[in-house]
Amino acid sequence: MSKKNKLNINSSDDDNLSLEENTNGSIESLEKIISELLEDLGEDVHREGLLKTPSRVAKAYRFLTKGYSDDPEKLLNDAIFYECYDEIVIVKNIDFYSLCEHHMLPFYGKCHVAYLPDKKIIGLSKIPRIVEMFSRRLQVQERMTTQIGNLLNKVLSPRGVAVVAEAKHLCMMMRGVEKQNSVATTSCMIGEFKSNSKTRSEFLKLISSTTD
Ligand SMILES: [Zn+2]
Repeated sequence: MSKKNKLNINSSDDDNLSLEENTNGSIESLEKIISELLEDLGEDVHREGLLKTPSRVAKAYRFLTKGYSDDPEKLLNDAIFYECYDEIVIVKNIDFYSLCEHHMLPFYGKCHVAYLPDKKIIGLSKIPRIVEMFSRRLQVQERMTTQIGNLLNKVLSPRGVAVVAEAKHLCMMMRGVEKQNSVATTSCMIGEFKSNSKTRSEFLKLISSTTD
């Protein structure tokens, strides 16, 4: 699948930017860069504990940013069905781990995703996969939330989509303001979740209930 095909299904310029930026250097070049980083930090890259670190870190970063190479078409292939169901569909408490693009430090938390179908539904397991695709990149929480909502809106043309993400940011906890317990919440409301306060309240009530 070429980059061009991937871009078609993505729904905002931000998505395009993320995919275009993914130049996919080799794992060896990444190892070399990590090794240089360690030296710059004043480390002895030849000491025993660090011998395999560049290779481990390179692999870890590849994994943590694997969402760039996920193909939305392949991901959603055969998982969209025609069904006369017109109540809210919600998948809540989806764990996610992402990296903030400003510090390359983790932010992580839970994501709640809902949509109000209009004839089309999506296989429920695909919703966490969509969250995974957009979180395994360098991100800002706001954009990640919007990208998840926009993709569902694009592929399902539903009556509405709602996404809420709640996350702790290590760049806030370990450095800077050092606020240990602050949680950032972002939301993306589309269609009836935006225009109809009753629908929105129902969603917010559903995600605040304690059942996991
Ligand atoms: Zn940050």
